[in-house]
Amino acid sequence: MQRMQITTLSVMAGSTACNLSCPYCISKTTYRVGQAICTPVDLGRIAFLADKFLRVCSGLPFGIITGKGEPTLADPDEIGALIEVLYAGGHGLIPELQTNGVRLDADRLASWREKGLNTLALSCVSERDEVNSQILSGGRVSWKLGELVERASGMGLLVRLTVILTRGGVDDEARFLSFMRWAKSRGAQQVTFRRMGAPRDLAREGSQRVADWIDQNRIEPSFLIDALEAGGREQDPLPWAQVFTYDGLSVVVTDHMNPPRDNMLRHAIIQPDGHLYGSWDDPGNILI
Ligand code: SF4
Repeated sequence: MQRMQITTLSVMAGSTACNLSCPYCISKTTYRVGQAICTPVDLGRIAFLADKFLRVCSGLPFGIITGKGEPTLADPDEIGALIEVLYAGGHGLIPELQTNGVRLDADRLASWREKGLNTLALSCVSERDEVNSQILSGGRVSWKLGELVERASGMGLLVRLTVILTRGGVDDEARFLSFMRWAKSRGAQQVTFRRMGAPRDLAREGSQRVADWIDQNRIEPSFLIDALEAGGREQDPLPWAQVFTYDGLSVVVTDHMNPPRDNMLRHAIIQPDGHLYGSWDDPGNILI
């Protein structure tokens, strides 16, 4: 039998609550197993599942703290405890926090860095604060993305910018070039460009509205790939992504969901019921 391989382990922090209202958000339209009230921090169970993940891990063992909402709405100590259990004193996983970043301050970042946080992955649609604010919160929330990137990278965190490709954001070559210049000048090391994907189950409440918005605002990544091929160096691809280096930055172009392929799972997810799943959107894909 072919051996199963898994590339990342994800743990959900916080509830389904979020401080933003991204019009492409599909997190509420996919399933969540177990209570949605708060993070089920059963650290012993997470340590057990992290140990099993290490045995089938393909490549570097990334342990991702993420959520169905915004994970930094959880208590900072709770996030710190998750980082510590994943890091396991340096013998465990490489902790990464995926966040929209708008609630982060120097104290939290320093404390999480101390506990073993390696990577800060910040989602956005643009380098321009007013554009992020307008598209992701209708102007309600203010951004200071450049300052945050500088602060985090100055502390020694690896900073990845995850850019959702949408109309009004990075939507042509000029915007791409401007984004890349800005990312480099602020100290980011990695950029992921992600194509938007529609909810699969349109019968779920809210799904049709999200699908309609995505239809009208989706930007295909072909212009990026052309610019990266012309100005960067293509690297060996991942099963779910094209990979480049460009002006000293690592750049990945990928889709919104990465289904399992050839016994290779992109994500294993610890859901709030304490079990490990091999897919974000198929509860039948339970592993442990
Ligand atoms: S930050 Fe994430 S969870 Fe919050 S609305 Fe945007 S996509 Fe959804």
